[in-house]
Amino acid sequence: MNEQMKKARDIITGYKGRPLRIMEVCGTHTHEIFRLGIRKLVPEGVEIISGPGCPVCVTAVGFIDEAVWLALEKGCTVCTFGDLIKVPGTEMSLAGARAKGADIRPVYSPLDAVELARSEPDRQVVFLAVGFETTTPSACLAAKTAKEEGLDNFSLLTANKTMPNAYNALVGSADAFIYPGHVNAITGNAVCQRLCDERGVSGVVAGFTASELMTALAVCIRGLEKGEPFFKNCYPRVVKDEGNPAAIRIMEEVMEPCDSEWRGLGLIPLSGMKLRAEYAGFDSRVKYSMPKITGKPNPACRCGDVLQGKCKPSDCKVFGKVCTPLHPVGACMVSDEGACSAYYQYSGLV
Ligand code: SF4
Repeated sequence: MNEQMKKARDIITGYKGRPLRIMEVCGTHTHEIFRLGIRKLVPEGVEIISGPGCPVCVTAVGFIDEAVWLALEKGCTVCTFGDLIKVPGTEMSLAGARAKGADIRPVYSPLDAVELARSEPDRQVVFLAVGFETTTPSACLAAKTAKEEGLDNFSLLTANKTMPNAYNALVGSADAFIYPGHVNAITGNAVCQRLCDERGVSGVVAGFTASELMTALAVCIRGLEKGEPFFKNCYPRVVKDEGNPAAIRIMEEVMEPCDSEWRGLGLIPLSGMKLRAEYAGFDSRVKYSMPKITGKPNPACRCGDVLQGKCKPSDCKVFGKVCTPLHPVGACMVSDEGACSAYYQYSGLV
């Protein structure tokens, strides 16, 4: 343990003030804080709650239903990051659609899906574009590449999300936020600084190592002790105030803001990204004249409350019993970044 970590550890373990609620917004932080044993250092008065930072978890049920419709009704080959395949839809998951004969393929990058479309021109390929500012640029690059090459057998089903308006929706849920370092690496820090200056929302940007996470937590606790709103970038080796201009440029070129449905948080105005009109031919909803599809979440699942920090995964009645990573009832148990999956793996409660 280096000197910085020892200092951070002493601040965290020595805290004896008023009860604090600190929300880590990022799913990777959720898992790393558990995996590195940092939760065990936190005194009783400090509660660490998870927020809506796992892209698979916040994707609405209706989006899964749309993907199933494209696969089963339109015969499209649906390419997706692997986690999404097991997320339950209203009637079935993509794994269920595959069992009925649908062609569902896990890919590592949107460009893998472009390559499939390029190499098999008779196949209609759909890529499921989910995620935050971290993954949206690569989906935009895929759409731009397909347009430049004139690939008419490739399209995107979009559910891309942006964090700023989600933060606004979460104001009041916690005393301070631990912001996702990889998102701020793209967007820069202006949004978080503005939240602090204009709405009094405190938070720190954190990296992903034990030292970075402990430092971020210690800075949060010290800042909250002082009682004034604060914002600090605790991940300066990666996050710059201006973000990543090239990534921002391609997002603005290919997509534009839209209202977006978040699991648990409902419809948040201008919290999503959709393809611009120039890319309509690459938008699966337009290309296949998709009807309006509204999903119905399983009433037993409390993912919505988990994602807002209103309850812990272990407060859900089916946690670890009916709902396990092998047989997930909700998205938060499926994803490697999901809070229910982290509690299942690390909390020792099952
Ligand atoms: S334990 Fe399962 S059912 Fe309960 S909130 Fe988590 S994912 Fe949903």
